[in-house]
Amino acid sequence: MHFEPVIGLEVHAQLQTRTKIFCGCTPAFGAPPNTHTCPVCLGMPGALPVLNADAVDKAIAAALALGCTVHEVSEFARKNYFYPDLPKGYQISQFDRPIATGGHVDLEVDGEAVRVGITRIHMEEDAGKSLHEGTGDPNLTGIDLNRAGTPLIEIVSEPDLRTAAAAAAYFTHIRDVLVAIGVNDGNLEEGSLRCDANVSVRPVGQAAFGTKVEIKNVNSFRFLQKAIEYEIARQSAVIAEGGTITQETRLFDPDSGRTFSMRSKEEAHDYRYFPEPDLPLLVLAPGQVDRVRASLPELPHARRARFVDQYGLPAYDAGVLTQDVAVAAYFEQVAAAAPAKLASNWVMGEVLRKLKDENVAIGDAPVPAGRLAELIRLVDEGTISSAAAKQVFEAMWTSGEAAPVIVEREGLKQVGDESALLAHIATVIAANPDAVASYKAGRVQAIGALVGQVMKLTRGTANPKVVHALLQRQLDA
Ligand code: ADP
Ligand code: ZN
Ligand code: MG
Repeated sequence: MHFEPVIGLEVHAQLQTRTKIFCGCTPAFGAPPNTHTCPVCLGMPGALPVLNADAVDKAIAAALALGCTVHEVSEFARKNYFYPDLPKGYQISQFDRPIATGGHVDLEVDGEAVRVGITRIHMEEDAGKSLHEGTGDPNLTGIDLNRAGTPLIEIVSEPDLRTAAAAAAYFTHIRDVLVAIGVNDGNLEEGSLRCDANVSVRPVGQAAFGTKVEIKNVNSFRFLQKAIEYEIARQSAVIAEGGTITQETRLFDPDSGRTFSMRSKEEAHDYRYFPEPDLPLLVLAPGQVDRVRASLPELPHARRARFVDQYGLPAYDAGVLTQDVAVAAYFEQVAAAAPAKLASNWVMGEVLRKLKDENVAIGDAPVPAGRLAELIRLVDEGTISSAAAKQVFEAMWTSGEAAPVIVEREGLKQVGDESALLAHIATVIAANPDAVASYKAGRVQAIGALVGQVMKLTRGTANPKVVHALLQRQLDA
């Protein structure tokens, strides 16, 4: 029996606001337990929530960037459940009237176009954290409510994904978009971005979906892919052996690469959702959505497409150059003053390598974009060879000097002077009778070795094209 996986993701993203969603406490990560709390986020009876306007703008920004329809009126609701780190006994979320619905993202996975629908985006508060370690007593669990009330959006996808790789690509895409628009810091390790994966399998050809399992809180792209792959294989094997899948929540253990059961899934009605009586309906101001839309920067995938169009770059180059906004901006500055493909080669090659080797941010690169463009022009005009240019670039990086200064001082200008070159060529022809004979006998490739010898004699300062032409003329004469 052959099975087709069906996957839908629920992504929780922390909104990068200065204060929590319903109070004035900071949502900053890493403070000593319970130091960023107040009666509202501690869930004291009678304390009233006040909605953070910036959280609303950031939720709208995310919704627009993901192609959703933003609703002028939405509603907060209580999601009731008991948990030690949820002091109110309910979480304020949105239920049947979320802030946005009906978006999609377009991905390319292994060369194939994949469109993933986004069912809804809703706003909610985060819960606190239970600390099972570090209390000094293995029998005690500590409660840290610093995270309680952190503003989140939950982005729910349609069950449109069909492979683990596509699911990882989707989650990566969501991260890139949210980071690019300044809505999320993209930090999976600190939990500012978390993903639950819903996975089911069905026999190929069957229209109805199989029973799904939810894998909770996967905190890396690689683990997400591994967890889903494991789950697909596990479910397929169970069904192939005549068993059935039970709807449940599972956890992924990175050490063993397996998922294991955590609890059977609560039904939605267990939460006894009802409209939050302490908050009015969320009614957006006239023009609010347009204002947020106008403030959105260019999105990573739009920039990638523009790099291909505007600069005529291969999709691969465009992908590499747009992975980081600052790198993309640097490239654009170089390409404004030098041929685009050469600019791309230099930025993807030498520049990114240097940044990585020396652990430097592009903003601190000792070779500013204008200087790199100047160097590239020297190569493009034939003033220096590309081999010499690499040398000059190294020197620019260390000394901070401009390319022409280094070229002049080191005498790296290409030997364009024919008579000087002809002398070197004569020397090389005399010293390599075998290669010469082989060329004359019809093995034209033999000329390559001779070009190499001349380049060596000129310490790489000759223009190899010119050397090649002159050598050919001499040999054919
Ligand atoms: P629940 O009520 O259990 O939370 P939802 O209908 O809200 O389920 O869906 C939650 C997530 O699970 C969504 O991302 C959705 O796309 C996905 N999903 C729903 N049904 C399936 C299925 N049969 N297989 C895989 N994913 C599914
Ligand atoms: Zn507070
Ligand atoms: Mg759900």
